[in-house]
Amino acid sequence: MEIAIIGGGIAGLATAINLKKRGFSPTVYERAPEILELGVGITILPHAMREHEALGIQAELVAAGIENVESCFFNRFGQKIYGEPRGLSAGNANPEVGIHRGRLHLVLLRKAQDVLGTDRIVTGRTFTGLEQDAEGVTIHLTDTVSGEALAPLRADVVLGCDGVNSAVRRQFYPDEGFAFAGINTWRGVTRMKPILTGGTYIRIGSIRTGKMVVYPIARFDDGSGDHLINWVAEIQSPDAVMNDWNRKVEPADLPDVFSSWHFDWLDVPAMIAGASEIFEYPMVDRDPVDRWSFGRVTLVGDSAHPMYPRGSNGSAQAVIDARVVADRLATLPPEEALKAYEAERLPACNKIVVTNRTAPPDLINIRVEELVGDRPFDNLDDFITQDELRALSDGYKTAAYAKAET
Ligand SMILES: Cc1cc2nc3c(=O)[nH]c(=O)nc-3n(C[C@H](O)[C@H](O)[C@H](O)COP(=O)(O)OP(=O)(O)OC[C@H]3O[C@@H](n4cnc5c(N)ncnc54)[C@H](O)[C@@H]3O)c2cc1C
Repeated sequence: MEIAIIGGGIAGLATAINLKKRGFSPTVYERAPEILELGVGITILPHAMREHEALGIQAELVAAGIENVESCFFNRFGQKIYGEPRGLSAGNANPEVGIHRGRLHLVLLRKAQDVLGTDRIVTGRTFTGLEQDAEGVTIHLTDTVSGEALAPLRADVVLGCDGVNSAVRRQFYPDEGFAFAGINTWRGVTRMKPILTGGTYIRIGSIRTGKMVVYPIARFDDGSGDHLINWVAEIQSPDAVMNDWNRKVEPADLPDVFSSWHFDWLDVPAMIAGASEIFEYPMVDRDPVDRWSFGRVTLVGDSAHPMYPRGSNGSAQAVIDARVVADRLATLPPEEALKAYEAERLPACNKIVVTNRTAPPDLINIRVEELVGDRPFDNLDDFITQDELRALSDGYKTAAYAKAET
């Protein structure tokens, strides 16, 4: 069976490796002329790491990133609200790891090239459209650099792994736009001394008055003990104009709310000022759809279920999709396989998209700000107990991991 994978990102490469393990030889068509280490930090949750372990790359990912031992929540005055163990420390079978997204991508690329052969990962090819008939799919590509249309290709199955701006999805949902709820974000990386345990995933403040997510993603091998710290600043405003995608900005371009965040355990303005690069980004997703599979074509990863990056779950769900679609193709005829994949994955992923909008992990910080007001507290237990906060945290996990793990 000739399987064409459109997009060589996290979903596309993980799907290609999973398919090869099941005896297929798919071809990946990637728009970028060269796959480079792009992006900033990403967290590989234990249920995602389980998938990477099955692909044989867990050890490499652990070595390239930093394991999270705990997750802690603070108000915007630097006071700790709640903390819990993470990854192996929380009894999971797999670690939770912060890593540079580009490093994760390159580890997947090397594995895909090893198992499939480099000729099966074709870069510099932009998908522009497809048609289906009874026997298969005709795919239209252009040369990304010259813009020239290439001779059409035929495949038995097409997997649209082309991300949040998917052209494959657009074929089936031509009028669809992004959903933007007024949340803008700024992402940066800063070289600095380890924060707290050195393996702490940190959420500070609330989306309404300014929020930051901070976690380490790499060590420096020069004996300095420094970490590369990934941070994301976010704020919601009803009259916000949507940030550009990946535009490089300066520290002064960030909202002023973070300028007073000098805590005894972290100096946020210094971290922002010391960033090697900062990019702006809008927090967007798309309204869930009730169909991903259309005959011999389906959607995988962000093209199927773009979600707010609030629970570290986007790439996790992409790599679970990758395994399930490969499993179904290995046992069923193409159209049935893609329907079975959709039946298994769509309800779980749509639920996460909605949960990430309405009840994300940082609901803890929002709830505390609602109860205490936008001011420091003397005794948090007067407002909410640690058990109640744990229930909020567990609520997200139940909604977003347990059902989605399959
Ligand atoms: C700020 C931020 C933080 C995040 N943090 C986390 C996190 O901590 N944990 C987590 O699990 N997830 C996180 N995510 C989500 C994660 O990055 C995505 O869910 C994941 O990258 C999805 O993989 P994908 O392969 O579907 O899409 P992508 O990785 O975007 O790959 C799509 C690929 O398709 C290619 N492509 C696009 N159009 C075409 C075309 N027309 N023809 C050919 N190729 C094409 C692109 O060049 C790209 O290589 C975060 C996302 C953001 C924005």
